[in-house]
Amino acid sequence: MKELLRRIPPVHEIQRKPEIKDIQERLNITREKLKHWIQTEIEHVRQLMMTNKREFQHKEEIEEYIIYQVKQKSMNWEKDNLTRVINATGTILHTNLGRARLSDEALEHVANVAKHYSNLEYSTKKGERGSRHSIVEELIKEVTGAEAALVVNNNAAAVYLTLRALAKNQEVIVSRGELVEIGGSFRVSSIMSESDAQLVEVGTTNKTHDFDYLDAINEQTVMILKVHTSNFKITGFTDQVNTEDLATIANKNGLIYYEDLGSGALINLEDYGIGDEPVVRDILEAGAHLVSFSGDKLLGGPQAGIVAGRKDLIDVLKRHQLARVLRVDKMTLAALETTLRMYAKGTHSSLMSIPAIRDILRPASEIKENVQAFLEKATANTMLTFDIRDSYATIGGGTMPDEQVQSYGVLVQSSVISPEQLEIRLRNQDTPVIGRFLDEQLFLDFRTLDHNDIDQLHRILASINQDLEVM
Ligand SMILES: *Cc1c(COP(=O)(O)O)cnc(C)c1O
Repeated sequence: MKELLRRIPPVHEIQRKPEIKDIQERLNITREKLKHWIQTEIEHVRQLMMTNKREFQHKEEIEEYIIYQVKQKSMNWEKDNLTRVINATGTILHTNLGRARLSDEALEHVANVAKHYSNLEYSTKKGERGSRHSIVEELIKEVTGAEAALVVNNNAAAVYLTLRALAKNQEVIVSRGELVEIGGSFRVSSIMSESDAQLVEVGTTNKTHDFDYLDAINEQTVMILKVHTSNFKITGFTDQVNTEDLATIANKNGLIYYEDLGSGALINLEDYGIGDEPVVRDILEAGAHLVSFSGDKLLGGPQAGIVAGRKDLIDVLKRHQLARVLRVDKMTLAALETTLRMYAKGTHSSLMSIPAIRDILRPASEIKENVQAFLEKATANTMLTFDIRDSYATIGGGTMPDEQVQSYGVLVQSSVISPEQLEIRLRNQDTPVIGRFLDEQLFLDFRTLDHNDIDQLHRILASINQDLEVM
């Protein structure tokens, strides 16, 4: 064994090899870093030899093996961990795939602000310190009708800040039917206990009446909270108190009435025949004192949480220490500003420049045409077959779980590998393609694919096809 191990070349010898020098130059990394990689691989080879997992005949073979391993490592090391994917799942606001994607206009604004200095907290008019809060506040007021607004890191943060700043050590009444968990990590009851607001549950899972709220009000009560149960629906024998009535109860008893809307629809998708998601402006008009919602769900902007409503309450939130802790970055504000301006413009074309809205409203006929054009071009792939299939896409992001949107896509099949293997191949590309299984076949939904995605998909499938030809 000792004799064998002695065949392992020393680090400095490997480090002198031209292949290794190439890696160092290509990646522009230090000698020390490369040395560390080589040492790791040498140790790995030693382990392989001592455990008889691999036999090496001579020194050159060991050397080659180590160089190969370092090369592989260098290639993977340079790859970004966060990468673009092609979302062919048919879920538009996919929480695992980054939710909303941003418009070109929003991205241009982000790049411009991030690349240069900005007036993030400076008033160029007055020549003095300004507030980052004021950057998008006017726009939020314009598109929601609110008196005032504040932006924080995400909607979970918005809920937390609101409860902490306005209801700490006091009681907040919530219907049992609304004590939901969203996206696996946001639980109304947990956020509330973290904020030190005291949860008072009223009603039952399926029914809550106005007297349930009235009975629960006492000296300690400061707030009624309504949580929009975005991702699940109780159907059948149900009852809940609507916004107007809850606002009236709150007003009569001097309480704050706050609705956590979750999705934050700024336009009425019901007008387009999609779902029954409440519109932020309507909820405020119906009497809610405060609402909060996400920036990257239906709104189609960056990750953010928006609180909008009564000025005296928003002022309390702005002044709270946590507002500093939960504040958003300039890139977020830039993306949000441009996205909100699209809503403020309000024309069809400005709304359709928001990718999430475009994907939700894209007519099924247009998707069908895209699939047909794709099929014509895809016939060159001899090892793969494609069939058009109609399907249903979903909104996602915990929004309108029941809502199915007519869509089209392709079933991809191969005579030489299984649907499962095909799915793995697509998922392991440099630009991963994420599809889903439909009738035990691999299905790619085209609702969320724009022309750039489809071109990329052609290239990826051609490359997989080529690999299959030589299999
Ligand atoms: C999604 C959601 C949240 C959490 O929002 P994030 O922006 O993901 O933090 C909170 N409340 C409701 C009702 C939601 O739907």
